[in-house]
Amino acid sequence: SPVQHPLDLFGIDGLLSDEDRGIRDTVRARLDKDVRPHVAQWFEDAQVPVRELARQFGEMGLLGMHLEGYGCAGTSATAYGLACAELEAVDSGIRSLVSVQGSLAMFAIWRFGSEEQKQEWLPRMAAGEAIGCFGLTEPDFGSNPAGMRTRARRDGDDWVLDGSKMWITNGSVADVAIVWARSDDSDGATIRGFVVPTDSAGFSANEIRGKLSLRASVTSELVLDGVRLPADAMLPEARGLSGPLSCLSEARFGIIFGALGAARDCLETTIAYTQGREIFDKPLAAYQITQTKLADMTLELGKGMLLALHLGRLKDAGDLAPDQVSLGKLNSCREAIAIARECRTLLGANGISGEYPVLRHANNLESVLTYEGTSEVHQLVIGQALTGVPAFR
Ligand code: FAD
Repeated sequence: SPVQHPLDLFGIDGLLSDEDRGIRDTVRARLDKDVRPHVAQWFEDAQVPVRELARQFGEMGLLGMHLEGYGCAGTSATAYGLACAELEAVDSGIRSLVSVQGSLAMFAIWRFGSEEQKQEWLPRMAAGEAIGCFGLTEPDFGSNPAGMRTRARRDGDDWVLDGSKMWITNGSVADVAIVWARSDDSDGATIRGFVVPTDSAGFSANEIRGKLSLRASVTSELVLDGVRLPADAMLPEARGLSGPLSCLSEARFGIIFGALGAARDCLETTIAYTQGREIFDKPLAAYQITQTKLADMTLELGKGMLLALHLGRLKDAGDLAPDQVSLGKLNSCREAIAIARECRTLLGANGISGEYPVLRHANNLESVLTYEGTSEVHQLVIGQALTGVPAFR
């Protein structure tokens, strides 16, 4: 009997504009040709050619994809989400590169920067010639960035930054770091963002080794030891924690689609595997237990994608609220990791092999579940929206 792909069963394609579908298909084809064949090796070696990939993705228009002007492609938010799903269907680390560059580093400059900062950095970042990172998390402050210890103090007209940042994607390959610090501004102490060229004296970055997740991504510690910056290094329009949080909201939007891309790749791999694998004289696909698992996973994948598309439409209409982003981030990450783990069971011993993408995706999704707000933090955000009571402390 005819076989349908999981998302085709939901008629998802019919919900997309021709343009969004075209972008998705082009991105998928390019990644399948140029990136997918190498990614398992990059993961195994924990070595990824970030600079080369950034140039390639810049040429494809994926960096700052839904931003307007300054060399950015200016697509719909939905198209950007669909591209994130394709990137993460290859590897969450590859999608992370694009998220951090476009939605965190570029978005911070695009939304909060001066015209000079935009002109200086955005066209080169959109082209993938300059790489950005985003330093918010510190060794002792992840879910609660308000506690950060990194300081920016005035010295004449200059700023001097001291502190450290931890778990920073692309930190040791970046040309520019967006660093969030507590400042002693004349109008009171508050969190401000700084555009820090990584060749500044006193700036250093150390790659974090030994990760068991997101191995095809560079993660680093940033050290700021008396980094002296001119007055105009500060992002003029960001004041307080709402600055970095609005950047995170942008990146989370990409994750809502992205994590489902990883789940889709697991499920497609697994459906094909169960059709080819004979157990007790018939294909694994022919067992009711297998079909129950496949049906339940397909249902969660499709429901997740429908929610993602709904949130994409809201974003395109300018109506997407941060609480709604939390709904999507929580759902996509939680269901994607559940799908990846269930798929792994169906592959048996092959499920633990790097020959198949499934455990790589499952391991990667552990990071995706944690960064950009853990599941628990998003549950608390949703809980507060429902009850009016903040339960964070
Ligand atoms: P903690 O905050 O210590 O959380 C530990 C546990 O406590 C979690 O289960 C959490 O859900 C729970 N918890 C927290 N608060 C509460 C509460 N109020 N009530 C109940 N439970 C709670 N950061 C950046 O700034 N830039 C980056 O580019 C970046 N890239 C990353 C890449 C990777 C691979 C990883 C793993 C992380 C990255 N991060 C980055 C950091 C990431 O955002 C943080 O790890 C995340 O915010 C969680 O913080 P934490 O690790 O300090 O965990």
